[in-house]
Amino acid sequence: FRFSRQPDIGERIRVSFEFFPPKTDEMETRLWDTVTRLEPLRPNFVSVTYGAGGTTRERTGRTIKRILTETGIPAAAHLTCVGATREEVDAVIREYDAMGIRRFVALRGDPANGVGEAYQPYPGGYQNGAELVGGLKSIADFDISVAAYPEKHPQSPDFATDIEMLKRKVDNGATRAITQFFFDNDLYERYVERVRRAGIYIPIVPGIQPVHNFRQVANFASRAGTHVPAWLAERFEGLAQDPQTHALVASAVATEQVMDLVERGVSDFHFYTMNRADLVVAICHMIGIRSPQGIVGSAAA
Ligand code: FAD
Repeated sequence: FRFSRQPDIGERIRVSFEFFPPKTDEMETRLWDTVTRLEPLRPNFVSVTYGAGGTTRERTGRTIKRILTETGIPAAAHLTCVGATREEVDAVIREYDAMGIRRFVALRGDPANGVGEAYQPYPGGYQNGAELVGGLKSIADFDISVAAYPEKHPQSPDFATDIEMLKRKVDNGATRAITQFFFDNDLYERYVERVRRAGIYIPIVPGIQPVHNFRQVANFASRAGTHVPAWLAERFEGLAQDPQTHALVASAVATEQVMDLVERGVSDFHFYTMNRADLVVAICHMIGIRSPQGIVGSAAA
């Protein structure tokens, strides 16, 4: 396999992990098991999502606070501006700042009635992700990541409009973009070329979605405007009732995607973990990201 030619590969690659804030004690326990297993992989940072409209304001903040306090991993809070006034969003920013949160993933968010609905900017609110970046920067010199869309955002009329919005985010102070998940690496590469041609030079970190459940991921992909190639559907065909084989195939598929991106020169990866460790640990292991002890969490138990 390719590692024989790239023995130092793990030293060149940086990973980050995304979590969602748990709703119940049981989910909190599962998240914390996951964080404990992923921590030894020394991620560049982790991030915690935010319910559009502020539904997870308290839980997102509390989860990040716990990660910062108990692990020391740099942690970013996602923040959306849909359905809130500037004053309300600024109050959350100040609250998080007071908790010691210095990193944000700044997002517009989707309307409560779904991504398919036309977006109505909230009266007196930040109108889009770019304005939110500006609002954050006017409060403090935060580290700010934003979203990017290799297949363009479903509401963007064309790539030029989409990339213009990314440019505005960068002009307002964003220093990293994390992409929507995708399965076709050619689309990512073409997108990065377009972005560079538009004079945008920040890292465009690929968001990798391990396929924990093909049917769910395919549903989510159709809403997010992510193309699901026929070959991917074929790989998971007939595995809905066979979770073990499904997991092995998912690990192979994601490793293949990441290795191909490494060959194309990508060095940073953001994993949508769904608060689960297994697939992410396996993929990271394959690309040479391992705990210093060589044994990770419950796998050793
Ligand atoms: P924007 O960049 O503001 O807008 C999206 C696109 O719409 C733009 O590219 C632009 O082309 C078009 N557009 C916007 N305004 C205009 C305009 N006035 N005129 C013309 N075109 C316009 N959602 C959550 O609710 N919580 C999260 O924690 C969360 N985390 C995410 C993390 C990542 C890495 C990604 C990729 C997405 C995440 N999302 C999250 C989803 C995100 O909120 C949606 O994709 C949302 O629809 C767009 O957010 P944005 O910040 O990219 O929007």
